[in-house]
Amino acid sequence: MAAPAIQNALTVDVEDYFHVSAFENSISPASWDERETRVEANTRRILELFAAYGLKGTFFVLGWVARRHPTLVREICAAGHEVACHGMGHQRIHTQTPDQFRQDVTEAKALLEDIAGVPVMGYRAPSYSITRRTVWALDILIESGFTYDSSLFPIIHDLYGFPGTCPHPHQIARDSGNILEFPLSTLRFRLFGRTLAVPVAGGGYLRLFPGRFIAFALSRINTREKQPGVLYFHPWELDPGQPRIPGGLKSRFRHYLNLDKTEGRLRGLFEILQFAPMKTVLENCPHLPLVLMGDKPDAIPYRS
Ligand SMILES: [Zn+2]
Repeated sequence: MAAPAIQNALTVDVEDYFHVSAFENSISPASWDERETRVEANTRRILELFAAYGLKGTFFVLGWVARRHPTLVREICAAGHEVACHGMGHQRIHTQTPDQFRQDVTEAKALLEDIAGVPVMGYRAPSYSITRRTVWALDILIESGFTYDSSLFPIIHDLYGFPGTCPHPHQIARDSGNILEFPLSTLRFRLFGRTLAVPVAGGGYLRLFPGRFIAFALSRINTREKQPGVLYFHPWELDPGQPRIPGGLKSRFRHYLNLDKTEGRLRGLFEILQFAPMKTVLENCPHLPLVLMGDKPDAIPYRS
């Protein structure tokens, strides 16, 4: 298959296996400091993997990781990748007040900029938790100096999701200002008069679906829709040897499924698709549609 010319955003959410929302009922943040940390070694493997393919990406680093492993942030930056922000404490936004969220993101942004010595422009919410009930978070991102966000997942899901929103990069206009949005990629199709969206952006979906399906879906977004897609994954998704955490069946399925297949599937995608940091992909988008988003986002004027 010929490689499509459109570049996709290559992104990594840099957190450890015990930060994930799936296990938030099993693991208290108070215990994080005592746990075996594996994020440094796993992220270095990703840096080596990217170097082997000559790829540059965007690393959304959790503030907790940056504080614990500042050298890792400098290594990411020194290798030519973009450092972006995944918040400080990985608490989903609806569990925070606006003031707590403001504190979380401003602290993380300042910490990352201090360590990396470069401006941090991008933000991704823990577990994509900017949803219809937390759109106020966009105002705080605008006010905090972020240029873009990549937290909206246009799917129906039990933990997150913003179904029906624009599925491609766009500008969101709020009363407080504008922010670029790079939603997580979906493959959309019509069935019985309705548009269904299947998540194809990576992470658990890269481990759940056959690798060829994700490659097909991202290629289709590039060639048929003439849009960039986004690929995301976490360092712990390349680490089958990570300590096992007790939790519900669904959480364990989502977290541990096919960890030994992630790297091979990533390599398959790197062979056939073009990738770049998210900042670069957004800069190369010729025109980004403007989506007016009020506080009652049921009224988003977008139809796919
Ligand atoms: Zn995360």
